[in-house]
Amino acid sequence: MNPETLDTQIAVVGAGAAGLAAAVAAAENAADVILLEKRSSPGGNAARAEGLLAAESPVQKRFKIDAQRDVIFRIAMDHAHWKLDPRIVRTFVDRSADTIQWLEDKGVVFSRVPHYYPNQRIRTWHLLSRGGIELVEILVKNGQDLGVRMLKETTAKRLLTDGKGNITGVMADTQEGEFKITAKSVIIATGGYAGNKELLKKYCPQYNENMFCGGLPYTGDGLLMAIEAGAATEGLGLIQFSGHAVPGAPVDLVAVADELNTVWVNKKGERFTDEATSYHRFESINAVIRQPDSFCYTLFDERIKQNIIEKGIIKGVGTVIPPRTKLTGLGKALELEADKGNVRIAGSWDEIAKWIGIKPAVLKATIDEYNAFCDDGYDRLFAKDRRYLDALRTPPYYALRCYPRFLSTIGGIKINHRMEVLDNNDNPIPGLYAAGVDTGGWETDTYNAILSGTTFAFSVNSGRIAAENAARYMMGE
Ligand SMILES: Cc1cc2nc3c(=O)[nH]c(=O)nc-3n(C[C@H](O)[C@H](O)[C@H](O)COP(=O)(O)OP(=O)(O)OC[C@H]3O[C@@H](n4cnc5c(N)ncnc54)[C@H](O)[C@@H]3O)c2cc1C
Repeated sequence: MNPETLDTQIAVVGAGAAGLAAAVAAAENAADVILLEKRSSPGGNAARAEGLLAAESPVQKRFKIDAQRDVIFRIAMDHAHWKLDPRIVRTFVDRSADTIQWLEDKGVVFSRVPHYYPNQRIRTWHLLSRGGIELVEILVKNGQDLGVRMLKETTAKRLLTDGKGNITGVMADTQEGEFKITAKSVIIATGGYAGNKELLKKYCPQYNENMFCGGLPYTGDGLLMAIEAGAATEGLGLIQFSGHAVPGAPVDLVAVADELNTVWVNKKGERFTDEATSYHRFESINAVIRQPDSFCYTLFDERIKQNIIEKGIIKGVGTVIPPRTKLTGLGKALELEADKGNVRIAGSWDEIAKWIGIKPAVLKATIDEYNAFCDDGYDRLFAKDRRYLDALRTPPYYALRCYPRFLSTIGGIKINHRMEVLDNNDNPIPGLYAAGVDTGGWETDTYNAILSGTTFAFSVNSGRIAAENAARYMMGE
């Protein structure tokens, strides 16, 4: 049975990257902490993340990696055309090295800081030896040791105020009903609204229902609670896209969907981008999104398929499928998806054209033109790197119907660099803090892959910073 009321000093909502960091940091600052988690286990998307960004970290120093704070700060701001809050970005970047040390001191092992893509300007992506789950497990254990009370399967529903605008706690809900948690301050870290179609349609002009979420389908609870309590919003509408793929297909097909030497056509059978941009950036998905109905077909032939099986994929998928991995199960995976109707395997391009629903002559013209570019070693349309120009002439031919895939949303609650939640007059709402991807002002319209690991890192760092400031507020400072 639920208690009628629980009392604490700092209530943290959401036990993912930001919430776990906040709960531990708050407890380290001598606060009594209750951590609410909606799901049956903690971790959220953080449990599946791979690595986090830092500047001038002890790990980068050990590996002799040049990653200066000023350079990283400038890249972040320039990428966003200075549409971010520079104090938030600066505070985050400046704190990032200390956070790596903080995590190492707790036992997190950073195995590598690799390039996310070849010739990446700066190496920021601190990979955990066992992935994000390592950080989650260590912070959960640390929290337990410090006395953090974690309430699982407990959903924060609504913020409590004293009528004068001060936050006084949060209403929680379990299968047994609602109860009150009184607190001096509340830190919101609920991971965004990637599973709330209504909010996606309302806030994200790019969104359509063909897009699919590869992360957890969060409902925007933190954002809605904060708005209800008078918070302003900032940076709403950013979706963290991670490429295009056949929805629900196995990861081998995710890797093939935006492989560099494949050809992408829209529903009219036209090529529309340099497919090899997917090597460097998440920008390649922007080209797909602006096509009719925001989807595309990935085309390749038997020779490319065999090369992927025998010599390995060129690009891969993060650390899940590293470059040059031989996808020996690819043939079977393609056949299974063909049975489901998402993939077409055919002896001629005419058959593929009919499946797409276009005139065979149109697709033939697209393929003939592309093959001629390959023969010339020069893509006259989009200047694709000649290393990835491979003519498609060996049947059978393959077509994958692919839709934009996203991990999460970013943005929403307006904060300042102390992670205080701001009202519509830009004044902090006393006792209210937010962290992680629920917040806005630190990333803009296209997720910045140049600074790999930004979202995970911002979440952990902003959680820590929010907790430290909440602890100061608690002490009356
Ligand atoms: C497959 C995958 C790989 C990724 N890889 C990387 C990477 O390598 N680098 C990188 O920078 N980013 C990566 N990301 C993104 C990264 O995981 C997120 O940016 C980060 O986890 C966001 O932290 P958060 O605390 O805001 O949200 P989360 O970590 O997702 O945590 C949110 C938590 O809040 C809980 N919650 C929601 N609503 C409520 C409520 N009402 N009451 C109580 N609890 C609630 C959720 O259940 C969840 O536990 C990846 C994401 C995915 C899905």
